[in-house]
Amino acid sequence: MLNLVLFGPPGAGKGTQSEKLISKYNLVHISTGDIFRSHIKNQTELGKQVSQIIADGNLVPDSITIAMLEEEIKNNPNAKGFIFDGFPRTVAQAEALDAFLEGIGSNITGVVALDVTEEELTQRIAKRQEISGRADDAADKLKKRIEEYFGKTIHVLPYYEGQGKLTKVNGIGEIETIFAELSSVIDSYKA
Ligand code: AMP
Repeated sequence: MLNLVLFGPPGAGKGTQSEKLISKYNLVHISTGDIFRSHIKNQTELGKQVSQIIADGNLVPDSITIAMLEEEIKNNPNAKGFIFDGFPRTVAQAEALDAFLEGIGSNITGVVALDVTEEELTQRIAKRQEISGRADDAADKLKKRIEEYFGKTIHVLPYYEGQGKLTKVNGIGEIETIFAELSSVIDSYKA
């Protein structure tokens, strides 16, 4: 299996690049943000539980997020591999993912972190909000999400660096250029 974590702050381009990578490498895309939004839209129990947390720009508790992610992996037994987008966001989530994958005889192949400045992120998300209308892209909520990223999520990087699995890629520039760089990192895993 080729299991990739695509890592980066809100607005780094994880969603855009994931879409391109899944078709090139035939992987299953798991975006915890997308799954949560779909639960909220469909007003499921889980959706009701998390909708305010997400609207406020806070992280959903680990127990809920980890259970949902494991369910998603189990629902794709024939996957050749996964791209994890927006997960893990805490060290506890990273540890849980490692343990779960080990249990099914697999592991994380590599982690690619998209490097983008805070200034660029703020500009990109302001643009995205005009199009998507995502409530959590509004300026005050975005500030909270960026705080969550630098307070909690950033610690996931040394976790994977310690495992020798981390590669940083410049996330500013043309979509195609960034995609080519990501592809060359992924191809190096296979070589
Ligand atoms: P995203 O679309 O990845 O930016 O996620 C949108 C929101 O969903 C985040 O701001 C969090 O509230 C929630 N969320 C998504 N993934 C996670 C995660 N791995 N852990 C906790 N909360 C998450």
